[in-house]
Amino acid sequence: MSYLSVSDAQTCILEHMSLNDTELIPLHESLNRVLAGDVNANRNHPPYDVSAMDGYAVRFDDIVRATRDTPVSLTVVEDIRAGQMPQMKVLQGRAARIMTGAPTPEGIDTVIRVEDTEEYGDHVFILTLQKQGANIRPLGENLKNGEVVLTKGTLITPGVLAILAMVKQRDVSVFAKPTVAILSTGDELEGINDPIDENKIPDANSHALYAQCKSLGIDPTLLGIVHDNPIELKTRLVEGLKYDVLLASGGVSVGHHDFVRPTLDALGITMHFWRVAMRPGHPLAFGTSEDGTSVFGLPGNPVSSMVCFEQFVAPALRLMMGHKKRFRRSVKARLAHNLKDRAGRTHFVRVTLSRDDDGYIATSTGTQGSGVLMSMAMAEGFAMIPAEAENMSSGDVITVQLLQGMDFQSDAGLEVS
Ligand code: AMP
Ligand code: MG
Repeated sequence: MSYLSVSDAQTCILEHMSLNDTELIPLHESLNRVLAGDVNANRNHPPYDVSAMDGYAVRFDDIVRATRDTPVSLTVVEDIRAGQMPQMKVLQGRAARIMTGAPTPEGIDTVIRVEDTEEYGDHVFILTLQKQGANIRPLGENLKNGEVVLTKGTLITPGVLAILAMVKQRDVSVFAKPTVAILSTGDELEGINDPIDENKIPDANSHALYAQCKSLGIDPTLLGIVHDNPIELKTRLVEGLKYDVLLASGGVSVGHHDFVRPTLDALGITMHFWRVAMRPGHPLAFGTSEDGTSVFGLPGNPVSSMVCFEQFVAPALRLMMGHKKRFRRSVKARLAHNLKDRAGRTHFVRVTLSRDDDGYIATSTGTQGSGVLMSMAMAEGFAMIPAEAENMSSGDVITVQLLQGMDFQSDAGLEVS
């Protein structure tokens, strides 16, 4: 089997994924989930024309000539608060005092804000003219009864959640989360609760993958460490195949003790590929079971495992959960330094990002060995160097995929530069 390009591998994986079932969950648990159906408004909001300001509801014709020097005087006939219905029609030469959100009375067509008036006993002087219709929020401006207000596939952000609350969706229909199992393989691995053994390697992958799933809102199950022993491996893989997605790291290459692929084969998993032209990352195996479990055989090297999760597993999980945006946002950046590279594989260089007036600048996080986890720990993005590219120079423009942490900056960003 030859090497697949990163994008062919991504396409192959996504083609084998399907949308999860839907489930009904409480409104407050729906943040960051995806709507599984359209949502209709079940009322008008506002339910009638309301005032957008504290002020006076007036007839525009009465005030056309109002100026600060020649104010127009109107008789105040009523006080209307939010939540109260007006009691009378406003006739010529009259006005009603009105609060923000209060329904406008019959007869008026304009609201003058309190700052543009002066009250004197039961009269109000209108000092400044405003446009006819000013400061009135029309019935249904926010929500129109019966209309679709949110469509299937919408990501539930706090703003979307607020709309769901307004249309009284105490329970929300969303796409269910997949169940995910995580397994680390290797005789050399030491579990987090095991005593330190100088000759062993602490298991990083289980925990990195756990955190990566958590960042997608998924609570994965840790199946622990398995030795490079086909019998033990088979038992544990069978357990993992009960989940929607099984992530097994290590033992997926062609070494003497790499039993993951042959064991998956023996278990009847259809392997779609196991080599991707990328660095770090290869080998990466992807297979599916007849029952619909997707199996990812991730590389043992911790950086490779994490990069493969981001590039292949996360988009698949997002698809299952109904997300339309399945890939992290990418931006253009200039390289801060030369970068040695060979053609042939897409290179995911871990970088930090800074900005100047011309845009982003990408700087390597240092030693880029696939076992050097610090390069990943410090990363704010993956510089994606295409397979065709060779050595790059300082200043060359590259594409950088943003990692979490890039959503934030130290200042409020209000200064206009
Ligand atoms: P493998 O893919 O099994 O050949 O492993 C490649 C390298 O990754 C070896 O140096 C392993 O010790 C290391 N490795 C494998 N699994 C893990 C893990 N779960 N945590 C940390 N390092 C690992
Ligand atoms: Mg191994």
